[in-house]
Amino acid sequence: MNLHEYQAKRLFAEHGVPIPRGKVAVNADQAREIAVELGGQVVVKSQVLTGGRGKAGGVKLAGSADEAETIAGNILGMEIRGFTVRKVLIDEAADIQDEIYLAMLIDRSRRRSMMMASSAGGVDIEQVAKETPEKIVRVHIDPLIGLRIFQSNYVAEAMGLSSNLWREFHQVATGLYKAFVATDASLAEINPLVVTGDGHLLAVDGKLSIDDNALFRHPNLAEMRDLDEETTSEQQARQNGLTYIQLDGNIGCMVNGAGLAMATMDVIKLYGGDPANFLDIGGGASAESVTAALRIILSDPKVEAVLFNIFGGITRGDEVARGIIVALEQVQSDVPLVVRLLGTNAEEGRRILSEANMQTAYRLTDAAEIAVEAAKEHHQIQEGS
Ligand code: GDP
Ligand code: MN
Repeated sequence: MNLHEYQAKRLFAEHGVPIPRGKVAVNADQAREIAVELGGQVVVKSQVLTGGRGKAGGVKLAGSADEAETIAGNILGMEIRGFTVRKVLIDEAADIQDEIYLAMLIDRSRRRSMMMASSAGGVDIEQVAKETPEKIVRVHIDPLIGLRIFQSNYVAEAMGLSSNLWREFHQVATGLYKAFVATDASLAEINPLVVTGDGHLLAVDGKLSIDDNALFRHPNLAEMRDLDEETTSEQQARQNGLTYIQLDGNIGCMVNGAGLAMATMDVIKLYGGDPANFLDIGGGASAESVTAALRIILSDPKVEAVLFNIFGGITRGDEVARGIIVALEQVQSDVPLVVRLLGTNAEEGRRILSEANMQTAYRLTDAAEIAVEAAKEHHQIQEGS
């Protein structure tokens, strides 16, 4: 889960990272009030879960509260890389002398957290890595000891940071590292960390990616999830413990297991079809989760056929079959469905489905072929009507 800039910066600040004064506005009036409070010279920043907002015109300086109001009015409602701007952060404008990149991430190959920094801040770090990789400095952090001052100094020196800023740099780096550890983040990034005109460091931007698997122990962070940034289907999937990713095709898939789901998508493509989604209903799928999954799949208007591919292990074929039938009673649809069941109690499951006049298949290849054909037919019927 990614947090918004304003949320990330507040969490960084709680651990000692200096950030500009600022507040969030949802309309131009509010933006104006905040700008007045901050003295007029502000930066208006779109809060959307994507980078490169500056280049897209989603970060603008304002010289007065009036200007902040106008700019906020323009930025609110703007589309940035597919995200609609619903909030803007109004920050006190910084007097920027230099821009540094600073991040904490996990280096899996070393099984450690890593601090990554560069004097080429402000711009896309991927671009720096490609064009001037020598400008990126890395140090690994011992989890038992934490970030040592000599490590911060080494990085500060390598970046060419003036030595009177080294102490402050260690404070910022330590704060960012603490925030990174405390939130079970996979990435905590400040880009840019700026050197101000009066010779201090200030985190002007912030990004924090939290490991979803750790959210259960951070209810306060889980609450920060911005529901506006998720599609309704994604929200419903998450609430029902399903993994769902919408794609562009027309064949909906309901599969248990991520690997099997990927294989199913490949086989659909092999037979000339195009999957409408990735959906893993997980192990021990209940009738309720099958119903929720079917509802989500069918809410996508592009779906012209649905392929179920269920491998019974702990999940029993007969239970899945009953689940599908219950689901179909609740979710009315004329979209053709085909079920491929294998494993524990699969025969019983297929019998139940056949009795309910449902199309079943024994092999995945057969199921894919049936689904692709059924989708074509359904498409023609829809076109004709
Ligand atoms: P991003 O483009 O999504 O990464 O958004 P940033 O928050 O990093 O803003 C983009 C750029 O706007 C920064 O690299 C800065 O150069 C500039 N910027 C952001 N805040 C301020 C500010 O307070 N004052 C000035 N002068 N420039 C700013
Ligand atoms: Mn940035």
